Amino acid sequence: MKNLNKNIAIIGSGMAGLAAAIRLAHAGNSVDVFEANSYPGGKLSEFSQGLYRFDAGPSLFTLPQLVLDLLALAGMSEKEFPYIQLEKGCHYFYEDGTRLIAYHNSEKFGQELEAKLGLDPKPVLDYLEKAKFKYQATSPLFIESSLHQLKTFTSKKTLKGLAAIPKLNLFETMHQQNQRELKEPHLVQFFNRYATYNGSNPYQAPAILNMIPHLEHGIGTFFPKNGMIQITNSLVEAAKKLGVQFHFNQKVDKILVENKQAIGIQIGSNRKLFDTVISNMDVHPTYRKLLQEQEAPENLLVQEKSSSAIIFYWGIKKHFPELDLHNIFFSKDYKGEFEAIFKQKTLHPDPTVYVNISSKYLPSDAPENCENWFVMINAPTNIGQDWDAWIAQTRERILNKLSRILKTDIGALIENESVLDPRLIEQKTSSFGGSLYGNASNNKYAAFLRHANFSKKIKGLYFCGGSVHPGGGIPLCINSGKLVAEMVTDSKD
Ligand SMILES: Cc1cc2nc3c(=O)[nH]c(=O)nc-3n(C[C@H](O)[C@H](O)[C@H](O)COP(=O)(O)OP(=O)(O)OC[C@H]3O[C@@H](n4cnc5c(N)ncnc54)[C@H](O)[C@@H]3O)c2cc1C
Repeated sequence: MKNLNKNIAIIGSGMAGLAAAIRLAHAGNSVDVFEANSYPGGKLSEFSQGLYRFDAGPSLFTLPQLVLDLLALAGMSEKEFPYIQLEKGCHYFYEDGTRLIAYHNSEKFGQELEAKLGLDPKPVLDYLEKAKFKYQATSPLFIESSLHQLKTFTSKKTLKGLAAIPKLNLFETMHQQNQRELKEPHLVQFFNRYATYNGSNPYQAPAILNMIPHLEHGIGTFFPKNGMIQITNSLVEAAKKLGVQFHFNQKVDKILVENKQAIGIQIGSNRKLFDTVISNMDVHPTYRKLLQEQEAPENLLVQEKSSSAIIFYWGIKKHFPELDLHNIFFSKDYKGEFEAIFKQKTLHPDPTVYVNISSKYLPSDAPENCENWFVMINAPTNIGQDWDAWIAQTRERILNKLSRILKTDIGALIENESVLDPRLIEQKTSSFGGSLYGNASNNKYAAFLRHANFSKKIKGLYFCGGSVHPGGGIPLCINSGKLVAEMVTDSKD
């Protein structure tokens, strides 16, 4: 039986919180979103630095249809959310001087592999077909369904997923499959990198995650014409159209529980009663700070977190024609880099550097003949390391690497600068340790060890966002908001 017209509180306005708010308001509920920051979007926010604009967090946009589906519920369309499909996924720079462009078009990508690596493209194109198969066989189960409800395991799509098990490479790591099938070192490193799309380690993560390249090569990568921030802005606009009330600068201190039922939230000494509470805050601090009197699922909270990052936002007084929107400058020692991040919880002396330049497609993001560089390296989560010293050291290492490869003194071109590190990511979004994607997927059980989208002990309490099922990244968070909305709508609480 559907249960509509509930009063619902959502804690946080990240991607998942916004997705849940839109769906629940559209279904006829009264929805209030309480956000600690003065702005919406959580990790997906923006800021300006002099004449440069930066998207603060996510830069890679896949599966735009998920955003359009939400906007459609408020009568909005691509007209209000214009975006383009990218012809080039990413520019890759290897330490041995090799440069490779990941074209979306497979024929062009094949020609690039032949020209730059002297390779027969056929095995790579076959590999991408397998990635497609894995994606299609498993995403209905692992991404679009709850793994914590019996009905999922009796559905046709689950049976289809189960039938595909022999072809999913469950018993080897991403790297092992890539090494076995692709062999050529540049290619292996290229495809290993997809583990970082959910903050994982390709030398540990199961090969089923080698489905990720299908997102980029098979389906495509996109860019909202007004920058990534347009995703947040359009979702907030849709939510408001549907009557969602936003309350900014409202940090929730407690989830009120009586007789094993969530009955509202508390901000300072102010108690606000609701029928349903949805936490879009990271599940770890949700239990530790908002549910202190309740028993926490310790076995789930101790799971390994995804990587975090250090990001330098640089206003650069020069135009670099050899760079595109997404650029990767690979480490010479990829395995060592992941060991440093995940095992030693430190930084490698030669980190892989990602440079995102949105002004390539949105010229107003930087002054004429200048570029807004978002320069990121993967980092361990914060466990009290000496980040200030590491940031100074990393800045020098990155500048040396980029200056050498681009044959330009990059340091001399920096007009203005700011830095984001794991401590600040945690401060700004409550993400535990500053992890970018919630739990890492560094073992084959990881999908089953994320917290469910509902509380098994407290009625009327739900969870959405990167730290719970199905995981981090914009598309998965939007799916998590959808799963929660369906559960709330179907519940008899
Ligand atoms: C630097 C960086 C780069 C990334 N790159 C990509 C990328 O390229 N592509 C991609 O798909 N994903 C990327 N991600 C991951 C992606 O941004 C996240 O997975 C996703 O945005 C998380 O959404 P969420 O719903 O979990 O909410 P979050 O963004 O984590 O937001 C949670 C919100 O809850 C609020 N909140 C927390 N506690 C409280 C409280 N007590 N009271 C009120 N409000 C509270 C916070 O202020 C915040 O606004 C990146 C992330 C980062 C940080």
